Amino acid sequence: MLMEMELQQTIERERVAPETITARTRSIYDETLRHSKYLEAGNFKSIHPADLERLFDLYDERFFAGGCRQALGSAPLRFRLSKRMTQSAGKATRLQHRDRRTKEVTTEYEIAVSTTLLFQTFHDVDRPIVMSGIECRDRLESLQRIFEHELVHLIEFMLWKNSSCSAPRFQSIANRFFSHTEHTHQLITPRERALTKFGVKAGSRVSFRVDGQHYVGVVNRITKRATVLVEDSRGIRYTDGKRYAKFYVPVGLLKPVE
Ligand SMILES: [Zn+2]
Repeated sequence: MLMEMELQQTIERERVAPETITARTRSIYDETLRHSKYLEAGNFKSIHPADLERLFDLYDERFFAGGCRQALGSAPLRFRLSKRMTQSAGKATRLQHRDRRTKEVTTEYEIAVSTTLLFQTFHDVDRPIVMSGIECRDRLESLQRIFEHELVHLIEFMLWKNSSCSAPRFQSIANRFFSHTEHTHQLITPRERALTKFGVKAGSRVSFRVDGQHYVGVVNRITKRATVLVEDSRGIRYTDGKRYAKFYVPVGLLKPVE
């Protein structure tokens, strides 16, 4: 396919000058704030999947001359916001469906972004946020870095069907187009926030109140909320032989106990 060839040549050969990358990403930042109904400021408080779609079109237009849309052809590309992603900031997926009757295979793509991680960053844990090796000043800049990373995944999926951000090909593309020097994010995860703000981690003994009752238990794991196990003769038996009741508690309600 001609369109894919063109995109592939651009992706394999082009290197965008660092100052051009800065100017383009800045113009995308400004344009996003100007046109979005949901992103009201750099540290926005709401976001809609339509904002991800606009980012896609802006990046595609400024960096790839519309080549991504062309390479997609008729394959659907969906955008999703996820509250449940608590470790990875974004995720690009390539899905294939085979029609049972016609045996026809269709491909579709999705880009998902974690709102849990986005909204926890630039909130109440204060430290510089470095994304893909670039320091970000606010939530929108972080979103752009996440999006650029997922866009490289998407491009690799379209051109080569597979994608890995720990591989040299990915890192070369991310560096030549977006100045990325690392492929890991440093957004604040619920785990980090629990530890730095409340002194709580998996294994901590904690006390908390639910419906006026006071409980003491042990933190089992931390995702969006903490899972706390409290000894309870009516509870489920665990591998240590004891019985526990399980509570899902917002980390801010936990107090570490010695
Ligand atoms: Zn990745």
